[in-house]
Amino acid sequence: MLRDAVRSLAEAKIAPHAAAVDEEARFPQEALDALVANDLHAVHVPEEYGGAGADALATVIVIEEVARVCASSSLIPAVNKLGSLPVILSGSEALKKKYMAPLAKGEAMFSYCLSEPDAGSDAAGMKTRAVRDGDFWVLNGVKRWITNAGESEFYTVMAVTDPEKRSKGISAFVVEKSDPGVSFGAPEKKLGIKGSPTREVYLDNVRIPADRMIGEEGTGFATAMKTLDHTRITIAAQALGIAQGALDYAKGYVKERKQFGKPIADFQGVQFMLADMAMKIEAARQLTYAAAAKSERGDSDLTFQGAAAKCFASDVAMEVTTDAVQLLGGYGYTRDYPVERMMRDAKITQIYEGTNQVQRIVMARNLP
Ligand SMILES: Cc1cc2nc3c(=O)[nH]c(=O)nc-3n(C[C@H](O)[C@H](O)[C@H](O)COP(=O)(O)OP(=O)(O)OC[C@H]3O[C@@H](n4cnc5c(N)ncnc54)[C@H](O)[C@@H]3O)c2cc1C
Repeated sequence: MLRDAVRSLAEAKIAPHAAAVDEEARFPQEALDALVANDLHAVHVPEEYGGAGADALATVIVIEEVARVCASSSLIPAVNKLGSLPVILSGSEALKKKYMAPLAKGEAMFSYCLSEPDAGSDAAGMKTRAVRDGDFWVLNGVKRWITNAGESEFYTVMAVTDPEKRSKGISAFVVEKSDPGVSFGAPEKKLGIKGSPTREVYLDNVRIPADRMIGEEGTGFATAMKTLDHTRITIAAQALGIAQGALDYAKGYVKERKQFGKPIADFQGVQFMLADMAMKIEAARQLTYAAAAKSERGDSDLTFQGAAAKCFASDVAMEVTTDAVQLLGGYGYTRDYPVERMMRDAKITQIYEGTNQVQRIVMARNLP
């Protein structure tokens, strides 16, 4: 029922704008409005904080169905989870009450600020600094590649509180867009997910009350990694949705397009490509849903499973979208058809929330 409801909404209210959102590289406001109106913008927020209380699998299905028509728009529910999960996992009761209610109501979005210009895969090498000053912390630094920066009201920011301790000297904070000293860089000009704004976040003497720290001092990096264990599954869902969208489009096209006097769907070479695409998608779906169930239960092998789902599903998305372009021939290579956008959008799922090389490092360290 959830899938049907999200699919109908996505097809009616999000899909019609997907090409323009990409072409104009603009924020998908129509998608945000539609998702908020239907309480699908941040489904993961627990009911006790005013949210829909969706479990990890339901959240995955929402993201998958939105990504099937518009990957940029699927970053709204995905990044709302990514940004706010540190607070849900490790924050004080007061922080949860304060920040989850506006997120659940759709009055505010949440972003996640881990990466920096010189600290990507090696996130613990970050330089952003937080220094205690009485009842306040003062933050200085630059966060890079922040999804929905400028659009979000709230930001989970990881910063160094003790430079001697590397990852154990990093703490997490909630920073608000309106805090004096917060500003944003120009939107990045990207290959895909062009509707999802990616900007730098500048922190210039941002003075915030000490109770905005998420969890204990020095636990920020652990919280950031624990968050990714759960949210990599949402990137797998996004990849899955993009791949399914490409397969669905190609499936329809091959029945219509005629060459050599018959639909190209009649050629076994084409049928074999479609069979492989569907087989890979289904394998990615099973891995992703199993990982979502593990996320919900907090199973001990979640770290491996989340990394495996993200890595596998994103590689599948890249292969399937590339094959979809192939099946449309020259038409697939143009912006008159959606599959080239899907191919460009798929690429990011192999890069963010840890590149697929990093996922393999994570898997190797956590072999089942
Ligand atoms: C559109 C977009 C949105 C993003 N959104 C966010 C966000 O909201 N919040 C956030 O914090 N970050 C975000 N990111 C950042 C993203 O997570 C990083 O780009 C990613 O982790 C890679 O870091 P990097 O770009 O610095 O690449 P690098 O770390 O410089 O990697 C370059 C290459 O080296 C490889 N490599 C690095 N180390 C190793 C190793 N040990 N072994 C093998 N290979 C290695 C990488 O796999 C990659 O192929 C976003 C990025 C993009 C592009």
